[in-house]
Amino acid sequence: DAAPTATTVRTTCAYCGVGCGVLATPRADGGVTIAGDPEHPANFGRLCSKGSALGETLQMEGRLLHPTHHGVRTDWDTALDLVAERFSATIAEYGPDSVAFYVSGQLLTEDYYVANKLMKGFIGSANIDTNSRLCMASSVAGHRRAFGSDTVPGTYEDLELADLVVLVGSNLAWCHPVIYQRLAAAKAARPAMKVVLIDPRRTMTADIADLHLPIAADGDVALFAGLLPYLAEAGAIHCDYVAGHTEGFVAALKAARNLRLAEVAEATGLKRDLIERFYALFARHEKVVTVYSQGVNQSVCGTDKVNAILNCHLATGRIGRPGMGPFSITGQPNAMGGREVGGMANMLAAHMAIEDEPHRNIVRDFWDAPRLAERPGLKAVEMFEAVASGQIRAIWIMGTNPVVSMPDADAVARALAACPFVVVSDVVEKTDTLKYAAVAFPAAAWGEKDGTVTNSERRISRQRAFLPLPGEARPDWWAICAVARRMGFGPAFAYDSPAVIFAEHARLSAHANEGSRDFDIGGLAGLDEAQYDTLAPVQWPQPGQPRTNAAPAGPAMEAGSRFFADGRFYHADQRARFVPTPLKRRPDDARSAAAERMDGTGDERAGDERADSPRRSDDGLILNTGRVRDHWHTMTRTGLSARLSAHIAEPYAEINPADASRLGLAEADLVVVSSPRGQIVVRALVSERQRPGSVFVPMHWTGETSSKGRVDALVSPATDPVSGQPGLKSTSVHLRRF
Ligand code: SF4
Repeated sequence: DAAPTATTVRTTCAYCGVGCGVLATPRADGGVTIAGDPEHPANFGRLCSKGSALGETLQMEGRLLHPTHHGVRTDWDTALDLVAERFSATIAEYGPDSVAFYVSGQLLTEDYYVANKLMKGFIGSANIDTNSRLCMASSVAGHRRAFGSDTVPGTYEDLELADLVVLVGSNLAWCHPVIYQRLAAAKAARPAMKVVLIDPRRTMTADIADLHLPIAADGDVALFAGLLPYLAEAGAIHCDYVAGHTEGFVAALKAARNLRLAEVAEATGLKRDLIERFYALFARHEKVVTVYSQGVNQSVCGTDKVNAILNCHLATGRIGRPGMGPFSITGQPNAMGGREVGGMANMLAAHMAIEDEPHRNIVRDFWDAPRLAERPGLKAVEMFEAVASGQIRAIWIMGTNPVVSMPDADAVARALAACPFVVVSDVVEKTDTLKYAAVAFPAAAWGEKDGTVTNSERRISRQRAFLPLPGEARPDWWAICAVARRMGFGPAFAYDSPAVIFAEHARLSAHANEGSRDFDIGGLAGLDEAQYDTLAPVQWPQPGQPRTNAAPAGPAMEAGSRFFADGRFYHADQRARFVPTPLKRRPDDARSAAAERMDGTGDERAGDERADSPRRSDDGLILNTGRVRDHWHTMTRTGLSARLSAHIAEPYAEINPADASRLGLAEADLVVVSSPRGQIVVRALVSERQRPGSVFVPMHWTGETSSKGRVDALVSPATDPVSGQPGLKSTSVHLRRF
């Protein structure tokens, strides 16, 4: 029986950025009954397969329960002293930029806040980055270029209110299932609603799509850049909006003006009639929401993809109104919370910019931190390269498994093996990364820790503990503060609860704002422990905050939960910016994946659906990586559930029948997938759903060697030059029978 009882705790799902409310009820037999929270505005009681199986993953087997030093159990005081001493000594000898934190979108906001405060404020380096760099950094950069702030304008309800929903690089059905369920229900209730899916694969999300565009890898810039002149010729530009609220339209249009349909077809690998049908739908519908996710962000041109999409919404004035707007959906449960506290190497707390001196002054004064970092730190890929080169000599990895999840993952393993001092905080005792830890801290897991997370529509929800801390496990904020105090920063880290940290974070957001920035949760700064404990899900901006929609769009929303309704943005002149996104046949970045494809195949484009030239028989394939429905990241939690593991039991390479035939492969063959960085052996899955010329391999599987399916060992470390996000969906590989 999933009905709430006196012992039921309201919390938030551990997984994706939808941020579903969960009712967790501990049972007398030691288990926990899980149900969706009918009162949570993200999911209204729904849960997906992963969320509903959370109770099956709360096992003690394999947990890291005690601090260790080189794998030998030690006590917290000894481990904390050692970490503080080694970090302090490294900083003293080599300077603050010789140390780094690599954190995670799994951390709670309070953990993220103190980690960021310690590194940027008191150590004096901005070398703190997060696995969210692999997830949505291109959206952050695109938002900042267009809006002057990292603001997601819309809400989940906008998807239900739209007449056209465009899903770009998003397998919503598997990666954000509850939003998919809400969208599918809205379309079923209102069949006139149109859904367009733009994805190299015909994923399960295509089941509700009226139109599927099987786009070539990284063709999105061309598709949306080409849409801009189409909208102009179709008379769909909102001229008053463009004139009144934006800058740069003429330059953006000029950059795209020569992009005719034939060139868009060439660059996207799409047939012209598909492109025209999509363009006509976009031009015809006023209420358009463009949802984009990792297929847009995880690219060497991800930021341009984001801005090409934002350009089309700004040009039509379709932003900040019910049922309209661009909508970046985050992958992780607290990617947004990390953005709010400045958990990335190029950001400051409360959505302030580290490059901005007045912003640095605000944070320096508020924290009383004279050593505050003055320039951006190293982004994730750069950070591990700096570990490899010896520039970084001590690194603390929290809540993430980069030896599996980073591109060129074997290089990350080699870097950590050579690093003089590696600290890892985790909840499990064996991961591919923990092998390299000098010190391991046992972290509190979901269900044991307390704090907040922010979902993709800016809704802050509590994660609450309903289980005791096992063994000597401790929350991450506690361990960070304990190290900070031992490094001599005691007064600034004298927190005794997450509520106190949250209150300071909220105060800083208000202190920073003075009415001029998007992120202000100052209204929550006065919460006492009891109020924090009972905090209901709350979306920012809060009612009354300036520059928000004056009227609620529906009963599920608080007033003021949509941004840019009044056409004012966060650049100094309050106008949005168009960003020209000209096609680059070969990105300038010498390390780009496209350039690498030139090395490997002699042809940077993929796919024999492209309009003009057929693919040569000796072409390599473009590797696309991503999630499956029932697993999460490196499976340290979902791998514990037999039910979840039964959905897809082993890693696979999904290829089109034409490629399988060309390569002499049959369904279920073992195949070697190789790149210049390594190879893996997986099962062939031959499917018409896969675009010819590309191959999909899921990201979850781990292993001692690459041969067990650790696909990120193959992936190129090439990054977007603006966001630093790696192109995880576009690496040249070759396939052969094992
Ligand atoms: Fe959890 Fe995401 Fe599923 Fe909701 S949709 S239950 S947040 S995994």
